[in-house]
Amino acid sequence: MSTEPLTTTLDVRKAAARGASVSGVLEPQNLAHFNTLLASSDGEVNVDLTFSKDEEGRHIIEVAIVAQVMVICQRCLEPMATQLGSRSTLAVVLNDEQAALLPKHLDPLVLDEQNCNLWDLVEEELILAMKPFSYHDTQDCKDRMKVFSHPPIEEVPVEKKPNPFDVLADLKPSK
Ligand SMILES: [Zn+2]
Repeated sequence: MSTEPLTTTLDVRKAAARGASVSGVLEPQNLAHFNTLLASSDGEVNVDLTFSKDEEGRHIIEVAIVAQVMVICQRCLEPMATQLGSRSTLAVVLNDEQAALLPKHLDPLVLDEQNCNLWDLVEEELILAMKPFSYHDTQDCKDRMKVFSHPPIEEVPVEKKPNPFDVLADLKPSK
């Protein structure tokens, strides 16, 4: 696997005709939209792209992405490391009509120009691979006591609504 930065743009149809492979590394800050979903820009995105033509003459891209990134634990609101993985098989098409005709095992990559922006492609796949909620393993979570201990009934008034500031208060070091 390459440790070089991933090429920004590529003529993917030509790459498919050649049966090329392209791999490379990105940092979260290279992918502005994806980066805003993360707890920090620490991490690494490894990308492997394999190009081919199938028996129908379609230009095919096998996409394999493994990302080590930081997200926010939705239980204790502290950063946590997580791994995202994405594998898909894309077929290059010119428009939505062609996309609609693809067999189920192929996802369309609509591309009406010569060059494909590989960074955009990777970013889209990563955003789809994001889990809606991430949680620490219970033994690592700062909020584990709250999850497993049941406070006495009188401390929990029935009408009490969850207050986001309670969480902040819990994060302050107790003396
Ligand atoms: Zn946590």
